[in-house]
Amino acid sequence: MSASINTKVLVVGGGPGGYVAAIRAGQLGLDCVLIEADRLGGTCLTRGCIPSKALIHAAAKLEAITGCVGAGSCGISLREPPALDLAQTMRWKDSVVSKLNHGVAGLLKRAKVRVLQGTARMKNGKACELVQGPDAGTVVHAEHLILATGSVPVELPGLPFGGAVISSTEALSLAALPAHLVVVGAGYIGLELGIAYRKFGARVTVIEAAGRILPSYDEELTQPVRRWLQQAGVTLHLGAKVIGLRETADGARLKLQSAAGESEVAADRILVAAGRKPATSGWGLENLALDMNGPFIKVDAQCRSSMRDVWAIGDLTGEPMLAHKASAQGHVVAEAIAGSRRQFDPVAIPAVCFTEPEIVSAGLLPEQAATQGLDSITGQFPFAASGRALSMEAADSGGFVRVLARRDNHRILGIQAVGAHVSELAGEFTLALEMGAVLEDIAGTIHQHPTLGEALHESVLRTLGHAIHI
Ligand code: FAD
Ligand code: FAD
Repeated sequence: MSASINTKVLVVGGGPGGYVAAIRAGQLGLDCVLIEADRLGGTCLTRGCIPSKALIHAAAKLEAITGCVGAGSCGISLREPPALDLAQTMRWKDSVVSKLNHGVAGLLKRAKVRVLQGTARMKNGKACELVQGPDAGTVVHAEHLILATGSVPVELPGLPFGGAVISSTEALSLAALPAHLVVVGAGYIGLELGIAYRKFGARVTVIEAAGRILPSYDEELTQPVRRWLQQAGVTLHLGAKVIGLRETADGARLKLQSAAGESEVAADRILVAAGRKPATSGWGLENLALDMNGPFIKVDAQCRSSMRDVWAIGDLTGEPMLAHKASAQGHVVAEAIAGSRRQFDPVAIPAVCFTEPEIVSAGLLPEQAATQGLDSITGQFPFAASGRALSMEAADSGGFVRVLARRDNHRILGIQAVGAHVSELAGEFTLALEMGAVLEDIAGTIHQHPTLGEALHESVLRTLGHAIHI
């Protein structure tokens, strides 16, 4: 039976942008309805951050145990190689997703957010109708509309998804290990999944149109990942663009174009990880005629769109398409609707690549500082000289922490690290930037010994010209 609901706030999309906005709105006492077409938690929880990190963890565990076979490692040895049951690994990964999925449902309930299941189709900036799902037929009218429909994988021309060609979504749920996985795109999604499947035992080839992997970072930072790929036997085709697919009796063959001419690569599975695009079509967005910023919805510093009381957050609003950015925008919008003078104006949005080894970046890279005409100084500390890294077999990956600061007043501009477990350093890096720290602030902060965080302290001391441990 169709129903009509009136609410103060309507959130369309239950990803890390939408569900955080809804919970915060509920906490602030605003009457709030959230519509989700699929599962609560969105791309991040269902087919992004969480399942990918679960598979990366399982793959790393397999690699570590395999490393104990024969001569062993740290005095631990195994006679037989471990067995991988990928179907069981996938079930474990699904159980992690389900647990968090139920957790989000519980948090929304506690915040008194009403959740409707189905696909919203916008009628205008004040109302929508659910056109699919258990709550289909329900019409919702709202004073404030928060659009948070997220993003979807980009399809390449001549390489539509289907059959052997998969997106990250299917790559997170493969029933069997592909004998040969070809990854198109050496961005963070392609490399994270490609590295995990290599550790699971698949042969992996990576094809990247740019001249190097992870082209949005500098070469120094990505070098340890490149080294791991080479040592692990991953075939890299850099400066090679995929231009099509040929199905043969023996399987799929990808057509590549590079400076050397055209060539072909055989593949069992082809993971296309060539970027993501905002989910702006198929749900009546055109009925709102909002101003756009390229493919994204144009928003101001409070995430207001060009239409009064219509807000947009998360991947819909542009780069970087990251879960914590979506959530931070969700906070801002809920509080702005409740009357606070909040703005989305971060000093830095950290980014982590959960590759082997991991990369974390907060603030400016050296070349970005140079482009902005900033006179900067930089120093780095290698994990090879870190007691903690050595004690966890994390010292020989070529990893380091690097800090970048203004030459004149020592204000920190950017901090990056590459190495095992460095993702956990992202918080301190970002805090330093957000608090406007100068080098002397970090130098004067006692860092727990032995931890990887000491490498930040030492990189700062080195920038000041008096490192102790190198
Ligand atoms: P989404 O999470 O995409 O959520 C949008 C929701 O809206 C979806 O649940 C969708 O079903 C729903 N929806 C869409 N249209 C409608 C409609 N008409 N009606 C009702 N519901 C609708 N980011 C990180 O920060 N760290 C990572 O490690 C990371 N890893 C990733 C790994 C992979 C493989 C992928 C694909 C992404 C990863 N991301 C990561 C990116 C992250 O997932 C996104 O940035 C984040 O999910 C964006 O949040 P969002 O709320 O904007 O949208
Ligand atoms: P991308 O990172 O865009 O990588 C896709 C790769 O595929 C590219 O290197 C491209 O050259 C290659 N490719 C495309 N077509 C072909 C083809 N036909 N043949 C061969 N190769 C091809 N966004 C920013 O704007 N700036 C940033 O600095 C930034 N840094 C980020 C850092 C991290 C750790 C994360 C998680 C995200 C970052 N983002 C950044 C956001 C990111 O761009 C988006 O979240 C998302 O679209 C990336 O997904 P991806 O890995 O699939 O694509």
